[in-house]
Amino acid sequence: MPPSASHDDSRRFALGANTLTLLASAALAGVYSLSFWDRLIVAAPPDGLRGLLFLVSAGVVVTALNAVFLSLLAWRGVQKPALAILLVVSAALAYFMDGFGAVIDRHAVQSVVETDLREGTEWLSWQMGAYVLGLGLLLAALLLALPVRYRPWPRELLSRAGFMLAMLLLVGLAFAPFTREMAATARNHGHLRHLASPLNLVNAVRAYIKYSGPREPAVVATLGEDARQGRPADDQPPVLLLLVVGESARASSFSLGGYERATNPALAATDAIYFGDVRSCGTNTATSLPCMFSHLGREDYDEQEAKASENLLDVLARAGFAVEWEDNNTGSKSVARRLREERMGGGGRPGEPCPAGGCQDDVLLAHLDEELARRNPQDEVYVLHMIGSHGPAYYERYPDDFARFQPDCRSPALQACTPEQIRNSYDNTILYTDHILAGMVERLRAEGETRPVALLYLSDHGESTGENGLYLHGAPYALAPDEQTRVPMILWTSPAFERWRGLDRGCVAARTDAELSHDHFFHTVLGLLNVRTKVYQPALDAFAGCAPG
Ligand SMILES: [Zn+2]
Repeated sequence: MPPSASHDDSRRFALGANTLTLLASAALAGVYSLSFWDRLIVAAPPDGLRGLLFLVSAGVVVTALNAVFLSLLAWRGVQKPALAILLVVSAALAYFMDGFGAVIDRHAVQSVVETDLREGTEWLSWQMGAYVLGLGLLLAALLLALPVRYRPWPRELLSRAGFMLAMLLLVGLAFAPFTREMAATARNHGHLRHLASPLNLVNAVRAYIKYSGPREPAVVATLGEDARQGRPADDQPPVLLLLVVGESARASSFSLGGYERATNPALAATDAIYFGDVRSCGTNTATSLPCMFSHLGREDYDEQEAKASENLLDVLARAGFAVEWEDNNTGSKSVARRLREERMGGGGRPGEPCPAGGCQDDVLLAHLDEELARRNPQDEVYVLHMIGSHGPAYYERYPDDFARFQPDCRSPALQACTPEQIRNSYDNTILYTDHILAGMVERLRAEGETRPVALLYLSDHGESTGENGLYLHGAPYALAPDEQTRVPMILWTSPAFERWRGLDRGCVAARTDAELSHDHFFHTVLGLLNVRTKVYQPALDAFAGCAPG
């Protein structure tokens, strides 16, 4: 009977949709989620037979949960392309998780959404290509070539429902003997859920959408409506405060704070004061930057609430300061939304000689020169947002003259470099930041003895350069290492500023070891500029008591 024989032939080599789902689920739970297993073994070291069985049951749970999710996609014409896309995306995620110790949470999604082309292309490396090609495209092509048999939809629907039920039952069975261990692991090591693909991505996107809500709130609450300068401006020259926001600079690499390498020779030759025990609000720019300028403080910080309220810059503007934001990074994250914001980078403004990799921070010195030449008669706060130590392409952050620590890493794929090379490149970025900050101080000093000028530098968060297998930043705050949360802070004041404010330098210098945090930034700036408002809290002013209140 030829027809039925050929029918059988075609069936012999075809997989069922559920089988394909199961295969993909196991592959994703395995090779695409190696970081998950790596960290799970650290979190719950397999101790004897029960420990091993716990790992096995965790494998069953993750695979079965994947299968429930992938079953939703297991339809003729949908399943293969959907799985192929998922494999390629999961391969890219694996590159970041395995290579950099990254977690896939809503902040990671936010970083991708808010990134610009320059920042995005900086990640491209042949190592990333190898992951996407080998783990992604090759397996996706293999999957697309597999013969899969789909039956008429009522039968498929029935079979899908039965399969999903069986998978859920399997989760229950695998979970039951280890309820205590699973619950404890989930509670104490919640970040593990950000490491198992593809559900980590599904959860991250869901959380991002839920959390981001409307991009900009329609109504912004006013803050510090009563803000005014403590002393009326008389005929003295206008006050200028530079607020310099650093990028990925960590305190432990500043020789001003005791780091054994001379990374701050230029600042060391000035009379700038360094504060070495300052904690960041978050471990990524999107959290830290708005948080620094917000009055909310780390414990109470909420992105939506911060966006729905005015911030430090609005209060300063209300007190009569002209406020301007000059950005050589990825923007002010809405902080300067109601004020003047000028962005460099992304190829620079017309006439600005910025290479494809974006401007290095000397572009900010050029802007400061322009600013000072304008001789603005108004009191002014000028925010300079640096690109600083932005990774992974550290080598693009400094010119050759500052490639002092050698050999440095010349690839954005940090795993391709030795730990020594990575540290050298990172230290070169700090050396260059030192040069830029000292350059700013020199320019302010040149304003003469008569003008009250000051500079306050603070980094947004720190950076890991391979310690404990972590690179870059963005670790969940509770687990984040010191390198990611301890940030440098520097204050420089001109003699005229100290006279204008009645600031006691010795008093400020005696606080260099004080335990500070981004929570202090808001109130410290108000205090420095003698802005009177009921939102000012002296307890959070790092220099409270060093100048008349
Ligand atoms: Zn940052």
